[in-house]
Amino acid sequence: MNENTANDILRSKGLAATKQRVAIFLKIEECNCHFTAGELHRMLAEDKFRERVDLATVYRTIKTFERAGLLRCVAEIGSCRYYGRIDNCGFEHPHFYCRKCRRLFCLKTMKLDSKDIENLEKIGFEPQFLLLTVEGLCAQCSEGGHSKNGQDDRTQRSD
Ligand SMILES: [Zn+2]
Ligand SMILES: [Zn+2]
Repeated sequence: MNENTANDILRSKGLAATKQRVAIFLKIEECNCHFTAGELHRMLAEDKFRERVDLATVYRTIKTFERAGLLRCVAEIGSCRYYGRIDNCGFEHPHFYCRKCRRLFCLKTMKLDSKDIENLEKIGFEPQFLLLTVEGLCAQCSEGGHSKNGQDDRTQRSD
């Protein structure tokens, strides 16, 4: 994605396409997995060709993007929130959080029953998002874990 496309997307959501917002949006586009505000800030800091963005701005921009419907919180661990692009990660799959290495895995094969959500709508409720996170140890971190390909079993894409 280039800057012009990012500009258009931000404007289509009624947001002013400031340089910092565009830089943050492009970085989110590059990152195919979920991220926290801290991780996003680190990724931006490592990119020397991009606009400087401080952590407070990253937090503020995530909130703005969330309200505009560009981002969604996909998991909440303690006070730490993980986000994902809405078109990359719908609310139909849960996540696994490893308490040791703190990685978040998409559990795309575990489908949630959307009927429960439809039933809520039938009685006038307005469900907005669903967070389901299984916590524990990943194959690499659990004792006797027999992960063959280490890093590779981390799910990067959600589509
Ligand atoms: Zn782990
Ligand atoms: Zn996911």
